[in-house]
Amino acid sequence: MIPPGETIGILGGGQLGRMLAMAAAQLGYRCHIYAPEADSVAAEVCGGFTCAGWYDGEALAGFARDCAVITYEFENVPVPPLVALGESTVLPPIRALETAQDRLAEKRFAESLGGVPAAFAPVDSLADLAAAVAAIGAPGILKTRRDGYDGKGQWRIASSAAALELPDKPLIYEALVEFAAEFSVLLVRGADGDIRFWDTPENVHRGGILAQSTVPTSPRVAEQVAPARELAARAAQALDYVGVLTLEFFARDGGPVFNEMAPRVHNSGHWTIEGALTSQFENHVRAICGLPLGDAALAAKGVEMRNVIGDAAEDWPAILSDPANRLHLYGKAAARPGRKMGHVTRLTL
Ligand code: AMP
Repeated sequence: MIPPGETIGILGGGQLGRMLAMAAAQLGYRCHIYAPEADSVAAEVCGGFTCAGWYDGEALAGFARDCAVITYEFENVPVPPLVALGESTVLPPIRALETAQDRLAEKRFAESLGGVPAAFAPVDSLADLAAAVAAIGAPGILKTRRDGYDGKGQWRIASSAAALELPDKPLIYEALVEFAAEFSVLLVRGADGDIRFWDTPENVHRGGILAQSTVPTSPRVAEQVAPARELAARAAQALDYVGVLTLEFFARDGGPVFNEMAPRVHNSGHWTIEGALTSQFENHVRAICGLPLGDAALAAKGVEMRNVIGDAAEDWPAILSDPANRLHLYGKAAARPGRKMGHVTRLTL
């Protein structure tokens, strides 16, 4: 067990790190953020901050010396330079990060555990794309294998791809899934193998970005949760996982279709701060510090979380005047289109 008072290192400085650090502070831990961006919103609430690039081995080694355990809130942290962390404990295991960073690897991993992703094929050239479209059919989605998030690095392919100029990166082509709804499975696994699931949120994305999560789900999703949870539990066991793990699915006739895996706390779990007996952030901290896990049961009749995105005008006093609302703002200075600025959780008690 890592006792309260010790320092947790967090790779990445965004809102997930900020909310992790706030949960860690409640349990008496210090946090040290490592991020390349000087304006990291997580660093604002932490005692320690190393602002350095991902390939700065000396900075990574210095950061590691200050931390009793290291976790990550950003899944595109490059893996090779992490050797500079030396003997430090990194949780969730780096293998989970490696698998989730590559859409091809994560789909193969899910398949190896009995999961069903959309039909997919790796694409490294226009010839590969033509072959993939011929084999899988169109419409489909072409995605970068790495570094994509919030719908970035994705192109809809309507039929033939002749006019497309491919980016010089490994890609993956996937069938477009005609889904009835989207949902995610959120679990936490402790070092002793104990697994807890939060209630499943039904998620709505707009423009590839999560807009809203609702608990409980509609019946069309509820009937698909059991097999999705089984896959998530198998993934956690196979990776010897410790911490919060999120798997995203499409609910389609015939069963859940695996979309992707995030080896970290997740936007579709923000509702757990007020809506569950223990939040995803607190349970992640408990798991990586070797503490007993908290109860993940629902703490309200229902919860709805909506993201505050970009520079849309919001009436904060009106939101705060309604006692059902809880407002979270991440302290980001510049609102850009598509940027996650905060979220509002609404409880039905
Ligand atoms: P991703 O970054 O892969 O999670 O994609 C973001 C969002 O785009 C998903 O949550 C879906 O709403 C949509 N999307 C991604 N892949 C597919 C697919 N193969 N079929 C249908 N919709 C998709």
